Amino acid sequence: MSRSLQPPAVIDELRSGVALGCHILALEDQGDFVWGHVSARDPEGRGVWMKASGFGFDEIGPEQVILVSWDGDVLEGDGRRHLEYPIHTELMRARPDVQCVVHTHAPWSVAFAATEEPLRPVSHDGTLFVPPDVARFTRTGDLVLTPELGSDLAKTVGDRNVALMVHHGIVACGADLPTAVFNAVFLERACKTNMRALMAGGPKTWSSDEEALAKRAHVGSPQAAWDYFARRLAC
Ligand SMILES: [Zn+2]
Repeated sequence: MSRSLQPPAVIDELRSGVALGCHILALEDQGDFVWGHVSARDPEGRGVWMKASGFGFDEIGPEQVILVSWDGDVLEGDGRRHLEYPIHTELMRARPDVQCVVHTHAPWSVAFAATEEPLRPVSHDGTLFVPPDVARFTRTGDLVLTPELGSDLAKTVGDRNVALMVHHGIVACGADLPTAVFNAVFLERACKTNMRALMAGGPKTWSSDEEALAKRAHVGSPQAAWDYFARRLAC
């Protein structure tokens, strides 16, 4: 058991934030029974504060957010860690700017990835991810159980904010919890809108690269959306 140098309030806030992120993803239909996870980087560099396994997104409170080391050991908190912890540790290892990571089995994103169609910026959401076309991890649709696979996934993400994990789900990241969680939410919404257009015969029009890049600077304030959900969940 390692002793934290941070004031307890800092860690408490982090654990509450991870729990809120889980509840937002549950409300946005990204839960898959007890699978999928949210994490935040430990301020002391010991690893990641991550949702414990065995619970659904809607069941998570701060006490179900545990500290997982870079090697997958549980350092603080009661609960088991998810098998796919390398998605989080390896992306954060590769990206010092990333403070938070989300992995879900978002159903519209999985269906969309299977079409092999390019993601078109047909709505506001899509402009956060394209151009260029969204990154796709295709090495395996199996679980990411090893640091080596996690590192490969991190290479696919590169310097971007999301990737589709074909036959599996999505990964999203950001410099804070609202950004990472809403990158996951907006990606799923973008894929859902693309799927609706594909089911209606395929999109015939979408933002040009120029318009999409201009919109990227204007749409999707993660903090405003995060605050909205925090108010909604407090009722
Ligand atoms: Zn998974």
